[in-house]
Amino acid sequence: MVANLIKGKEIALALREKFGQEIMSLGHKPHLAVILVGNDEASLIYDRNKQKAAIEAGMDCDLHHLPEETTEAEVLALIDNLNEDKNIHGVMVQLPLPKHIDSRKIIEHIKPEKDVDGFTPQNAGLLSVKDERAIVSATPAGILYLLKTVHKSLAGMHAVIIGRSNIVGKPLAALLLNNDCTVTVVHTKTRNLPEITKQADILIAACGKAKMVKADWVKEGATVIDVGINRINGKLCGDVDFDEVVNKAAYITPVPGGVGPMTIAMLLENTYQAYRQSKA
Ligand code: NDP
Repeated sequence: MVANLIKGKEIALALREKFGQEIMSLGHKPHLAVILVGNDEASLIYDRNKQKAAIEAGMDCDLHHLPEETTEAEVLALIDNLNEDKNIHGVMVQLPLPKHIDSRKIIEHIKPEKDVDGFTPQNAGLLSVKDERAIVSATPAGILYLLKTVHKSLAGMHAVIIGRSNIVGKPLAALLLNNDCTVTVVHTKTRNLPEITKQADILIAACGKAKMVKADWVKEGATVIDVGINRINGKLCGDVDFDEVVNKAAYITPVPGGVGPMTIAMLLENTYQAYRQSKA
């Protein structure tokens, strides 16, 4: 068996074009503010890509690029201004922040209705009780969207998620549970990991360990979603050993061009949702 590719890049582009057209017909522009503190090269490239994608979709997007030595109080003050500004619909802070700034304190300062990353406890809580007002964090939302392009219904499917972070693993578990999957979350303390992953109809790798998932960890015909972004000798790769697993799975996402582009598309979708909710 050679797996079919789930082409996140193409799917994300189509999605951005779709809501880009809807936004054009609004006559108003949803407005996203991105805060980046420091000079992390990868974050700067990533945030410029977000800004470009937002503008292409017909939105306004400001990148607040602050110096490394910016204090926590200064970031909080900027968030206060953005929270109060009626023309701003979405606010996101690029992680990781420099060590002298408390990330949780910063995230929790964003008004939940402008929290387009879905990282505030309010949005995480709304997601866990399946409240449609929840702004769902972009990577899990993108993964669900990709799964729905290949499976009409996810009901009863066993999804195994490798990783339990607050930004990927945990919200994804809630989202898949809300979509009637049977969900297992595994992590570094899990025993017999491959025995569990082999039971997955849907296997999602979000552990940040290059090529960790091998063919003998995967059930024949499974759908494999690779969230990982790693580099080996400068070359990008995921958490799944693609060359092995492509011969075992029925569907697989590539890295790059799988989950990554969906994260940006869903961030813009979330900004559009925040805009609509602000007008409701
Ligand atoms: P974190 O480092 O926050 O979490 C990693 C999780 O994986 C932890 O729960 C950890 O377990 C678990 N884990 C690590 N090693 C193992 C192992 N050997 N066996 C089992 N579990 C393990 O990472 P993130 O969730 O932030 O990101 C995960 C990956 O996804 C990274 O490569 C990141 O770059 C990528 N990413 C990609 C995005 C995209 O848009 N494509 C967006 C966000 C992230 P424990 O809790 O026990 O430590």
